[in-house]
Amino acid sequence: MTHAYTPYGECNTEICLSVIVPLFNESQMIAPLISRLTSVLSALDDSAEIVFVDDGSSDDSWQQISQLPLAENEYQCIKLSRNFGKEAAMSAGLEHARGLAIIMLDADLQDPPEQIPLMLAQWRAGFDIVNMKRRKRLGETWLKRFSAACFYRVMNWVSDSPVPENVGDFRLMSRQVVDCIKAMPERNRFMKGLFSWPGFSQTTIEFDRDPRFVGETKWNYGKLFGLAMDGITSFSFKPLRIATWCGVFTACSAFIYGGWVVAKTLIYGEAVAGYASMMVVQLGLAGVQLLALGLIGEYLGRVFVEVKQRPLYLIEEVAYRQSVNQVNPN
Ligand code: UDP
Ligand code: MG
Repeated sequence: MTHAYTPYGECNTEICLSVIVPLFNESQMIAPLISRLTSVLSALDDSAEIVFVDDGSSDDSWQQISQLPLAENEYQCIKLSRNFGKEAAMSAGLEHARGLAIIMLDADLQDPPEQIPLMLAQWRAGFDIVNMKRRKRLGETWLKRFSAACFYRVMNWVSDSPVPENVGDFRLMSRQVVDCIKAMPERNRFMKGLFSWPGFSQTTIEFDRDPRFVGETKWNYGKLFGLAMDGITSFSFKPLRIATWCGVFTACSAFIYGGWVVAKTLIYGEAVAGYASMMVVQLGLAGVQLLALGLIGEYLGRVFVEVKQRPLYLIEEVAYRQSVNQVNPN
């Protein structure tokens, strides 16, 4: 192994790999997920743990995961006190994961667990981050694919730390990267941005993303828009800079045009005219002003959240399931 980094967090070096699975109302998914994931993990030479984070499910997801039969892998099951959202659930998982390599995996089997050995091989080769790029986005509507493409374009144009396109949360990170992410104090957790911000050596594996196994996506367009705004506003001031330049451009044009109108009136003594052009200019300016005001509001709202310093999530219960090999006879 080429990773010389000595972790400073609570890291159990006996556990090599942690797989973090956030779940929200995924009770139908747990059995198929466990069977596919454990068959992959038990074929590995290294010890692994699964960190389930129940993000306030209202179905019996928690009962199922907290009563899993003992297996060769360890389970940590964390129950959040309510639904805090996937980003917070992943943060809770990162906080509890003990492995030297950490993988994020969706519960709906869209991210094939069979890719894990390949990811580990890249980590062993010395990469700190293994990004999993979706070659095909099966089971997604054209609107979702189109909006995702637009988002990556805008995000990477405004942001200083580019987010790799079509790489979701499914990725491997080394303990060193995870410790850096854990040390970031912000409440606004746009994880795709946080994962890319620290840098470190990265590689990308392409894979075909399967459609959701059962059930429906938990994201509607409203939530996705909120997530996109989170991403853009937490990683860039560029939108504000653009608003400033719009202001400069409008003010300059108004100054020049105003001079021309005054001159015209003085020279030709022109009567008041141009209702249509006045309305267009007024409405246009009002629109731009409201847009800029909304933009400032987006930033201000996030400052408000940061200032409050509330915890990202609250944990109601934690259940550990130890491996059969490690059960203490006492
Ligand atoms: N999820 C979560 N909290 C939420 C919404 C989703 O923990 O508030 C989990 C969900 O259970 C799944 C993963 O996040 O394991 C991805 O969710 P989903 O499949 O709905 O998103 P998509 O694949 O459509 O992006
Ligand atoms: Mg999904």
